[in-house]
Amino acid sequence: MLHGYCPATRYLPYLAWTDIAALPDKENTVIVLPAGSIEQHGPHLPCAVDTIIAAGVVGHALARLPDSVPAFGLPPITYGKSVEHLHFPGTVTLEGSTLLATITEVGESVYRSGFRKLLIVNGHGGQPQIMEMAARELRLRHGDFVVVPHFTWRVANVAGRYLSEKERKLAMHAGHAETAIIMALAPDTVQMSRAVANYPPEFPCPTLSADGRPAAAWTARDFGETGVIGDPMPATPEQGHAILDSLAESWARGITELHQMRWPKRDAQTWGRAHQTGDVLGS
Ligand SMILES: [Zn+2]
Repeated sequence: MLHGYCPATRYLPYLAWTDIAALPDKENTVIVLPAGSIEQHGPHLPCAVDTIIAAGVVGHALARLPDSVPAFGLPPITYGKSVEHLHFPGTVTLEGSTLLATITEVGESVYRSGFRKLLIVNGHGGQPQIMEMAARELRLRHGDFVVVPHFTWRVANVAGRYLSEKERKLAMHAGHAETAIIMALAPDTVQMSRAVANYPPEFPCPTLSADGRPAAAWTARDFGETGVIGDPMPATPEQGHAILDSLAESWARGITELHQMRWPKRDAQTWGRAHQTGDVLGS
C-alpha cells in the first residue's frame, strides 16, 4: 500500500471524498506534506535518502499524536530540485520552477478541500527557498491560509550529541546524521563497507563565512568524486533510532501547537487575485 511510514488512519488519500467533506474542524486540522528528493547520497546510501527521512520522520510524528489532535499526512513530494547533484547517475531532478508550481498547486488543492493549515516538512537542503516562495504565494492568495515551510532537521533533536565539531561545521550531505537515521528507517539500503569521508575546504573568507561553510554556490562534484560531504563512518543504528525518536517527538509537538494556534486572518489580496489565471484556483 501507499502510505509507507504514515499510519494508514492518518493518510489523507485513504479517505473517500465524502469522508473528507464531513471532517469536523477542518480549519484547524493540520495537513502535513513531506518533501524530499531523489539524488545521489554517496556510494553507501540510496538516492532516496531525503524523501525517506522526510516521510519517515513525519510518519513517526503522526503515529504518536493522540486522537484529540486532528492531522493527516499527504504522500511525499518525492522529486525535488537537486541540480547540484545532477552530475551523478540516479539523481532525478525537477527545475525550480516546476517544483515551485507543484508545491503551490498541492497547497491550492489542500485549501480547496477546506483545510486551512499546511505544514511542509522538507528534507532536502537544496530547496527550502522554493518552499518559502510557495508558502508566501499561497498566503497572498488566501488570507486565511496558514502555511508553514520548514526543514526536517530544524527542530530540537539529539543528532548534535553524536557529531564531531568538524562534522557539525562542514558536513552537508550523506554524512554522520543522515547515515545514522537511514540505518534506523531503511537499514537494508545502507552499505557501510563502501562509506568514505570527504569534507569541503573551509571557505577562505571569514567575513563572508564565519563558520567556514561554503558561501559561494557549489555543486557536489566540486568537493570530490564520491558525492559525500561529511563523515558517515561513526554512524550507528542506535544513534539513528535516538535521532529519529527525538525528531518525531519534536514534530508531534509542532503539529499539536499548529493545531492549537490561531493566526491573523486577512482578506485575500487583490494583487494575488489579479495575477491568477483561469478559475481553477478557487477562492
Ligand atoms: Zn540528503
